[in-house]
Amino acid sequence: MFSSIRKSLLTIVVLLVLFNALLYILYILLAIEPGAFTGTVFLHLSLIAVGSLAVSSLSIVFFTRSMTTSLKSIAGFIQDLVPGQPFNKLVSTREDEIGELAHETNQLAERTNEKFHQLSSERNRLDLVLSRIEDGIFLLDGEGIIRNINPSAETIFGINKTTSVGMSFIEAVRDYELDKPVRKCLRTKKPQQEYLDLRHRGLYLGMIATPLATEPGCLVLIQDLSRLNKLEMIRKDFIANVSHELRTPVSSIKLLSETLEEGALEDPGVSKKFLGQMIQEVDKLEGIVEGMTTLAKIESGEVRLKKKPVDIVRLVEQVTKRLQGMAAEKEQALTVVIPAEEVLVMADALQLEQVIFNITHNAIKFTPPGGTVTIRVTFDEQQVVVSTSDTGFGIDPADLARIFERFFKSDKSHSSQGSGLGLAISRHIIEAHSGRIWAEPAPGGKGSRISFSLPV
Ligand code: ADP
Repeated sequence: MFSSIRKSLLTIVVLLVLFNALLYILYILLAIEPGAFTGTVFLHLSLIAVGSLAVSSLSIVFFTRSMTTSLKSIAGFIQDLVPGQPFNKLVSTREDEIGELAHETNQLAERTNEKFHQLSSERNRLDLVLSRIEDGIFLLDGEGIIRNINPSAETIFGINKTTSVGMSFIEAVRDYELDKPVRKCLRTKKPQQEYLDLRHRGLYLGMIATPLATEPGCLVLIQDLSRLNKLEMIRKDFIANVSHELRTPVSSIKLLSETLEEGALEDPGVSKKFLGQMIQEVDKLEGIVEGMTTLAKIESGEVRLKKKPVDIVRLVEQVTKRLQGMAAEKEQALTVVIPAEEVLVMADALQLEQVIFNITHNAIKFTPPGGTVTIRVTFDEQQVVVSTSDTGFGIDPADLARIFERFFKSDKSHSSQGSGLGLAISRHIIEAHSGRIWAEPAPGGKGSRISFSLPV
C-alpha cells in the first residue's frame, strides 16, 4: 500500500514524466517530419504538455506548502513544551506520515511528562530522606563541585544550600583537613574515612567519602560527634576530678594513721589531735560522696521536686539564723535586706533552702575575718531575685561562669575548703525551678555576688 506522501510524490513524478515524454515526442516528430506535423496535433500536444507542467508545478507548491505548515506547527509545539507542564495536544487531520509524526509527538510529550513526574516524585522522596538524616550529606561531581547537600550539612557548617550548590567542596566547608580525604576519594575512587578534631570551630567530626558507583564523583557523609566528644571529655574530666578530690583526704588519713601506728598512738595528746584531723578528712570525704550522690540523683531526675507555695523571705531568714554562728566565729557581719511582706514562689522548700545555704555559706567561707556578707531579696511582678554579696577574695572574671561546673574551684589557694560541687548542685536545683543563677563581682568592687532568680 502506498502512503499519502509517496502517492503525491508519485503523481507529481508521473505528471513530470508525461510532460517530458510529450516534449520528447514533439521534438522527434518535428525533427523527422516537420511537414507532416499539422497545427492541430501540435496544438493538442502542446496543450497536454503545458497542462501537465502546470498541474505538476501546482501540486509541488501545494504539497510543499502543506508539508511546511504541518512541520512548522510540530516544531512550534516541541519548542513550547515545558517538561512537567500541561500542554494542548497537536491536532492533525492528516493521515500521512506527518499526521503520524504529530501523533507520535503527542505521545512523546505525554511520556516525557510522565517520566518527569516520576523523576520529580523520586527526587522529592530522596530530598525527604536526606532532610531526615541527622548526618550531613554532600553529593559531589567528579570535579568536587557540590551538586546537592542536606539540611544537616547546612547546620553543621553554617552554610546555605542555594549558595553552596555549584561551589567546590573546599569553598563551602573552608577547611583543608576536610577537603583532603574528599580529594583522595575523587582521585583514587576508593572510600575514605577520617575523624577530624576542628577545635578552632568547636567541631569534632566523623567523615566518610564514598565514590559514586555509576559516574565520577563522591558522596560525603559527615557525622557531628562534637557533643559525644564533649561528653567523653566531661566524663574524663569527671573521673580525673573525682580522683583528685578523693586523693587528698585519703592520703591525709593514710599518713595520719601510719604516724599513729608508728608510735604516735602512745602519746595521748598527739593521738587525740591526729584523730580529730582524721575525722575532719573523713567529713570531707563524706561531703564529696554526698555531693556526688545528690548531683547524680538530680541529674538522673531521681529527685522529685515537691513544689508548693513557699515564702522565700522566710527561707532566707532561716538560713541566716543557721549561719549566724559561723559568721560570728569569723567576726563577719551577716546582714539581710528583705521585703516586709512575704514573697511566694512555687518551689521545693528544702531544695531552695539548700541553694540559699550554699551561696551564703560560700560567701562566709571565701571572705576573710572582719568582712561583710549581705543577703538581699528583691522582687517585682515577674520574678524574685536572691543575691548574696560579700567583701571576700572575689572570683577571677574568667571563672565567673565556670564556678557552676562540677568540681570547679576558682581560687586554687582555697581549694581545700570544699568539694566544688555546691554550686553545680545549686544550678541544677534553680534550673529545675525554671530559674537562673549567675555570679558577678560585688557592687562595691571587692568580693563577689552570687544571685538567682525565680519566677513568682
Ligand atoms: P566549694 O565551695 O565546695 O569549693 P562550690 O561549687 O560551692 O564548691 O564553689 C565552687 C568554687 O567557686 C569555689 O571553690 C570558689 O572557688 C568559687 N566561689 C564560690 N562562691 C564564692 C564566693 N562567694 N567568693 C569567692 N569564690 C567563690
